[in-house]
Amino acid sequence: MFSLNNKTALVTGGASGIGLAISQAFAEAGATVHILEINQDLANQVADDIKASGGRAEAHAIDVSNQAQVVDLIGQIASQGPIHILVNNAGVAHVGKADTTDEADFERIFRINVKGVYNCLYATIPHFKANGGGVILNMASVAASVGIADRFAYSMSKGAVLTMTLSVAKDYLNDNIRCNCISPARVHTPFVDGFLAKNYPGQEAEMFEKLSKTQPIGRMAEPKEVGALALYLCSDEAGFITGTDYPLDGGFIRLNN
Ligand code: NAD
Repeated sequence: MFSLNNKTALVTGGASGIGLAISQAFAEAGATVHILEINQDLANQVADDIKASGGRAEAHAIDVSNQAQVVDLIGQIASQGPIHILVNNAGVAHVGKADTTDEADFERIFRINVKGVYNCLYATIPHFKANGGGVILNMASVAASVGIADRFAYSMSKGAVLTMTLSVAKDYLNDNIRCNCISPARVHTPFVDGFLAKNYPGQEAEMFEKLSKTQPIGRMAEPKEVGALALYLCSDEAGFITGTDYPLDGGFIRLNN
């Protein structure tokens, strides 16, 4: 499809679900993929699989919410050669309304979903500027623009990701840095399976069907469908696209009426 030959990409949360599909799509398109993951074992396994299929990947253990770790790691990667693409994909879910979300959960969601993205921007943008440009892709959610019921902190955190995308796109227009986000509705990943197992034990299959039907198209997205859009948006072919949000939502935002 689109080539990422000779490009180096960082993918946070790049060993599971959507991030895994992005790592695989980028590696197949010729990029060297750095998987920035809190789950080191999974990241090692994914990097080994990519290498076994002839691609280039490296696994790095990191918590994106820890700024010192992020700056140190991205500095090390940048010292080996230019970084061209940053995908801020790592994120965690939470169920709750304003009066049922405790302070610890509120802070945890913001620490990972919001501060984690900021940390990676903070660490990577100086390298992009020094190298004459770069591409940033953030993983938001339909929750950012519609506010999903019973997902108070999560929806707000994704709203912040959407706003960060616009702000960064404006601030670095003259530095040849493009910044966009994707807003998926439900994608069938371990994130969804874990949510169902935790909140609906014994009713996972029934709830899976029910959640699938909340999307007008009648099913969840597959991770590789997000990977394909991510590949396009990070390729040179999308050179005119910046400061925008791409819903990948089976009609969730506009057709749910
Ligand atoms: P997932 O749980 O399958 O994968 C997330 C990955 O992020 C995991 O590998 C995890 O180890 C990693 N991670 C979590 N916290 C981290 C941290 N602090 N530092 C580094 N890595 C960390 O989830 P997914 O469904 O693939 O979701 C990926 C992104 O897409 C998330 O930002 C999520 O909010 C967003 N999203 C998912 C859906 C969906 O339905 N699956 C819908 C909309 C948006």
